[in-house]
Amino acid sequence: MKRLSLHDTLSRERQEIFPSDGEVFRFYCCGPTVYGPAHIGNFRTFLVQDLLRRVVELSGIQTCHVRNITDVDDKTIRESQAAGVSLAEFTAGWTALFHEDAQALNVLQPHVEPGAVHHIPEQVALIEALLAGGNAYRSDDGSVYFRVSSYAPYGRLSRLDRRELKAGAGESANDADEYDKDNVSDFVLWKTRKPADGDNFWDSPWGEGRPGWHLECSAMGMKYLGESFDLHAGGVDLCFPHHENEIAQSEAATGKTFARHWFHNEHLMVDGSKMSKSLGNLYTLADIVERGFGPGELRYALLAGACRTKINFSMARLQEARGNLERLAAFIANLGGALQDYGELCSLAASGRLDAGPFLPVWEALLEDLNTPAALGQLFTALKPLEKAAAAGALKADEMDAARTGLAMIVHAFGWLIPEVAGAGGDSVDIPADITQMAEQRWRAKQDKNWEEADRLRDELAASGWVIKDTSGGYEVERNRA
Ligand code: AMP
Ligand code: ZN
Repeated sequence: MKRLSLHDTLSRERQEIFPSDGEVFRFYCCGPTVYGPAHIGNFRTFLVQDLLRRVVELSGIQTCHVRNITDVDDKTIRESQAAGVSLAEFTAGWTALFHEDAQALNVLQPHVEPGAVHHIPEQVALIEALLAGGNAYRSDDGSVYFRVSSYAPYGRLSRLDRRELKAGAGESANDADEYDKDNVSDFVLWKTRKPADGDNFWDSPWGEGRPGWHLECSAMGMKYLGESFDLHAGGVDLCFPHHENEIAQSEAATGKTFARHWFHNEHLMVDGSKMSKSLGNLYTLADIVERGFGPGELRYALLAGACRTKINFSMARLQEARGNLERLAAFIANLGGALQDYGELCSLAASGRLDAGPFLPVWEALLEDLNTPAALGQLFTALKPLEKAAAAGALKADEMDAARTGLAMIVHAFGWLIPEVAGAGGDSVDIPADITQMAEQRWRAKQDKNWEEADRLRDELAASGWVIKDTSGGYEVERNRA
């Protein structure tokens, strides 16, 4: 089967995407910082990554998808203190809402979703390796910094000039005071404890403190995917300094290539500016629902624009999405019968028996750098004669079967929510917010090996009529049908 090719930020070239071990395609995505609701710009990024995963899996390749939760940094600490709750309780609430929205948008749950606060020992070990190799140093206040000059290829990913690198790179332990760094572009690995941190500090060989933000993705990526893996993804704003710093600290410690490929998608914009919490120009999924649209229409609209092109958000896009989804649903209904589910198609693909049939040009457009606008153009071109024939009852049984399988492949690649498609969200259950939050707290308690609290929460969920099932990468919540 033909493979996906993707524009790689590191080489600036389109590269074929395949697992380097010949078996599992291992990739890491920077996840949400959980100090408020994720906005639909964040979800553009998670949806593009979901599309990438689906296209790889529908090409017959198994994946291992890791997406972290940033649950300790300046913002999560500051906001939890402002809310007067512990960091753990605060981030559990926002993580639960994130999961609820991601599920409503039909985003596949990653295989592993690690939180930074549960991986302090791995981050400490990475700093120890960097200190031992002469790539890091301690400052007078006990913080530890990465010495950028010790890693010659620094800047290879973002290709900024020296001046720009200097201005942007250096996250400091204390942003108001940069005197303790040897060089302005050095960045912090371990931030020594400050009174403003409250209870949020951990022990380390360098005293109490907390890890720097860049470090967590390196430590967790390498823990779950190996020192060298296939692809690392994030929104374009993360390219520098976050990803540049991830490469430097990982490769300096291991001497190996950290990620073979880098994939960055462009932003969702509002009136010409990036949608962001700090600009206050954001919409959440709840805002979209309040305006009368659903997660299905949002998903369609956010994936309709080319991944590496900025898209401007508007209600007209959602309206257009509604029309196209209705047209697809009507055609599927005319074909008579539900389409196969995602798992069935992936099994067919793995055994080399999945065929896009009349929708092959659509699939091939997706394989060419996830070109969704071209794929949609091909889809409606292919659909027109089939719609006519189906309405006239002129499609033979084998033509209907080919159309059904081919269309299922496209619908699942985009992850569209169409009620007529099995497993595509048409029969999804709404899980109340308090239940999701309780499930999240129970999962966190389990991660902390606090079995008593985990059991208590499981029982409380059961008393409310919900069962929680552990899966390889996390958990699922279902209504108790017993
Ligand atoms: P954060 O929660 O800020 O850590 O961001 C989570 C992800 O959302 C990162 O990959 C960001 O690059 C991405 N992101 C943030 N703002 C936008 C936006 N307006 N459009 C697309 N992606 C975004
Ligand atoms: Zn990251």
